[in-house]
Amino acid sequence: MAHALPPLPYDYNALEPHIDEQTMRIHHDKHHAAYVNNLNAALEGLDDLLALSVEELIGDLNKALEGHADLQSKSIEALLQSLDSLPESIRTAVRNNGGGHANHTMFWQIMGPNGGAPDGDVAGAIQRDFGGLPALQDRFNDAGAKQFGSGWVFVTVDGTGKLAIESKPNQDTPLMDGKHALLGNDVWEHAYYLKYENRRPDYLKAWWNAVNWKAIGQRYAAAKAGTLQI
Ligand code: MN
Repeated sequence: MAHALPPLPYDYNALEPHIDEQTMRIHHDKHHAAYVNNLNAALEGLDDLLALSVEELIGDLNKALEGHADLQSKSIEALLQSLDSLPESIRTAVRNNGGGHANHTMFWQIMGPNGGAPDGDVAGAIQRDFGGLPALQDRFNDAGAKQFGSGWVFVTVDGTGKLAIESKPNQDTPLMDGKHALLGNDVWEHAYYLKYENRRPDYLKAWWNAVNWKAIGQRYAAAKAGTLQI
């Protein structure tokens, strides 16, 4: 398989009481797993083969499989950065499932128990670009609350270390624009509905208690060094 579900880097109940164990089990084991499985299926060419007539299937089979064998060796970051160059028949599947895989891989990584507070370079950048953490949180939570329907809210980081807030629909990711997420929060209802029901602003506010600032500081250093992957 080209892509694999990364294990959760802490226990399912590690983010209690801010994010409940059942939400984490369903979110990681069902939702993220489905994105990975569907991405692999699309890259194997299943979507292509289903869309072809028998005549086309015979004629194009080798071509289709050769094309996808090539795509299977690409990183998720490379796939998402070159969506326009993918075969049209799998572009939407890669966008939705590949984006979902990348977003959730980042999401599990930047959360954790006892997450501390920003320090060092990333703290300086937050002060410089937002005027401090409370101001960042206010703007981030506002953008997350206003994202209509399903989507994500991110703090993006460029190669110089500059930070910005950006929201995206569905499973779209800053990777599709050639940018990186420093951190991001999932505002699909599956991320919070069991515990917070329709109160997305309460979830957005509580979520900051489950953020791992050490991991975010490492991502910030990697972004500036040009080595941040997802
Ligand atoms: Mn999700």
